[in-house]
Order: sequence, then structure tokens, then C-alpha cells
Amino acid sequence: MTERTLVTGGAGFIGTHLCKRLLDEGHEVICLDNFYTGQRANIRPLLSHPRFELVRHDVIEPIRLEVTQIYHLACPASPVHYQANAIQTVKTSVLGTLNMLGLAKRVGARFLLASTSEVYGDPLVHPQREDYWGNVNPIGPRSCYDEGKRVAETLTMDYHRQHHVDVRIVRIFNTYGPNMLENDGRVVSNFICQALREEPLTVYGDGSQTRSFCYVDDLVEGMFRMMQTEAFTGPVNLGNPDEFTVAELAQKVLAKTGSASPIVHRPLPENDPQRRRPDITLAGERLNWAPHIPLDVGLDRTIAYFRQVLAEPAGPAAH
Ligand code: NAD
Ligand code: UDP
Ligand code: UDP
Repeated sequence: MTERTLVTGGAGFIGTHLCKRLLDEGHEVICLDNFYTGQRANIRPLLSHPRFELVRHDVIEPIRLEVTQIYHLACPASPVHYQANAIQTVKTSVLGTLNMLGLAKRVGARFLLASTSEVYGDPLVHPQREDYWGNVNPIGPRSCYDEGKRVAETLTMDYHRQHHVDVRIVRIFNTYGPNMLENDGRVVSNFICQALREEPLTVYGDGSQTRSFCYVDDLVEGMFRMMQTEAFTGPVNLGNPDEFTVAELAQKVLAKTGSASPIVHRPLPENDPQRRRPDITLAGERLNWAPHIPLDVGLDRTIAYFRQVLAEPAGPAAH
């Protein structure tokens, strides 16, 4: 049977890579997006594919579609964008996930939620395992996203318990790669674009906070395996456990781009997590998955992508 697969947020950074992978696997793909942070240029190369369909829709509103699988990614992911309209972010996470679970229930589709390491908040346990319940501020500037995703996880498990929907939850840790928006605001795209433009690299705080960066191809492989795996709801962490300080990342980007940009320090955003690194033991055991692309290799590919984007204002995918 050909899978008929819905990817919400399919025009976003991860979504475009996932849509392409699913087409390569022989799926019929419906990409649903409201283009809040997605870009048409990203999916333009897919539009002529005979098994690809684009639906412009906001997941806050109900929709009826006939599908066999749902990868639910719709939600802005960069702190800059999810905080720009915090109430919309809560609606997207809560009402959007409710609608997609209602759809999964009606048509009997398998449902995968793209959750986040932010459910652990500013973690007091390091590295983070799936059984850690987190340290999350319910009323801060990041709460719309963190608490929104926590409710999305709750809804997902309640639809599983109450309505026997076949669900999966993946908790994604910082992921980067080509097709990120140039003005996305996340650290990897910011540093690379700043370095290539010979502008100062903006390190927030003293740069001693850590993140663990996963290349997008590794992540998509993990998501795909999770969807194929039987009798395992998760949640499961997907990320690269190699941990770097933000200051180290800045130095790497400068060295790789050969940029003469200086480093400037900006105030650390409120509630910015101090340390983050996934424990991926569970993904290894249940999905036989581990990331293979080290930061050095992934950064080279991402830098090459942004060199092209910045050289051609319309972006490489526009042709
Ligand atoms: P992104 O912002 O590039 O993509 C999100 C997509 O969702 C965009 O195309 C956007 O237009 C769309 N969208 C937003 N609100 C919508 C709505 N109401 N209706 C329909 N579409 C909507 O972000 P991304 O990095 O590709 O993230 C994809 C998913 O993965 C998100 O759910 C995010 O929370 C999760 N995630 C990402 C990371 C990461 O590091 N990239 C980490 C943790 C979790
Ligand atoms: N929903 C949807 N598409 C569908 C089925 C349901 O968007 O194909 C929405 C529905 O409008 C509702 C939500 O999903 O807002 C939850 O649906 P469910 O049937 O679980 O709850 P109910 O409609 O009974 O409140
Ligand atoms: N950051 C930074 N400079 C930037 C953007 C981000 O120093 O231009 C820092 C940010 O404060 C955080 C880390 O980089 O500590 C990762 O930020 P990002 O927005 O990419 O994602 P987060 O993991 O915070 O959701």
C-alpha cells in the first residue's frame, strides 16, 4: 500500500527535508503550511513531483483530509519567531495538535509529534533522559513554546489512551542545516550569515551556555525510523550528543568561513537554558539510530548553502 502522508509545517526547515525523504521512499506527500516561517523557495523543487501536493492552511482551523500517516511539525521553532506572536504559538501548538489528532482519529492514521528538548526547560539533570520531567517556567517569554509543546505531548498521549490513536513522540534537540531561513534567528544560521557578511557575530551572554547540534539528515532518518517502528510511542530524544559552548561555535564558524568578523556580546535572553545535551540511549536501543554527521561536516555543508543564498538574493531553490 502506498502511504499517503501529511507533513504539517512541511514548508519549514525540517519539513522540506522530510517531504523530500518521504517522496524518495515512494510516499504520496501532502505538505500543509501557512507560510508563517516556511518559504516557498524551499519546496519549489518539489512542486512538479507527481506525488507531491501543497495545501496552504493554518492548523488552528480544522481540516478534513484522507491520509495514512501524519508527521505534525507545524509550529515556529526559533525563539525570535515563536515569541513574536506568543498567543499564536500557543494556539498552533495546542489547537493545531488537537485538530491533527482529531484528524488522525477520524481516518485511523499513524501520528508523529515533533516535540522538543524545550520540554526539559533549563534542565537540572544533565544529559537529559526521556524520564526527566524538566524545569520549565510556565509564565516566561519561552513558555508559549515550551508549555505549548508539553500540552501537545499531553494531548498526544491522551488521544492514545482514550481513543487508541497510534502515536509517536520525538523530542528534537537543536537541529541545523540547509534551508534554514537566513533571518531565522537561531544561532547556527545567525553566526554563518553574520560571518559571511563580515558583520559582528552576536554571542548572547558570555557564550558559556552549551547546545548539542544535530545535522538535519540525521534527524530526518531518526524521525522516519520512529514512524516505522511498531509498538513504541516514545517519547524519544533525537539529537547529537556532542556538546559545544556557543563561544566555541562562534570560533568554529569564523575559522571555517575565514571571516574577519569580530565577536560582540549581547544580553543573554531570559530563561535561556544553560546546558543542553541529549541522552540518546533509548533511540539507540529502540530505533537502532545514532547521528553520523559531525558538526564540522554539517557546518561545511550549511556554510556552502548560505554562501549560495547570500550570493543570489532569490535563493538557490528559486530557479
Ligand atoms: P520552521 O519554523 O522552519 O518550520 C515550521 C513550519 O511550520 C513553517 O513552515 C511554518 O510556516 C509552519 N507553521 C507554523 N505555524 C503554523 C500553523 N499554525 N499552521 C500551519 N503551518 C504552520 O521550524 P523547524 O526547525 O523546521 O521545526 C519544525 C518542527 O520541529 C517544529 O514543530 C519545531 O517545534 C520542532 N523542533 C525543531 C527543532 C530545531 O532545532 N530545528 C528543535 C526542536 C523541535
Ligand atoms: N478535526 C479535524 N479534522 C478531522 C477530524 C477532526 O480538523 O478530520 C478536528 C475537530 O474539528 C476538532 C478536533 O479535530 O476540533 C478534535 O476532534 P475530535 O473528533 O477528537 O473531537 P470533537 O470534535 O469531538 O471535539
Ligand atoms: N544565541 C547567540 N547568538 C545568536 C543566537 C542565539 O548567542 O545570534 C544563543 C542563544 O542565547 C542560546 C543558543 O545560542 O543560548 C541557541 O539559541 P537558538 O536560538 O539557536 O536556540 P535555543 O536552543 O535557545 O532554542
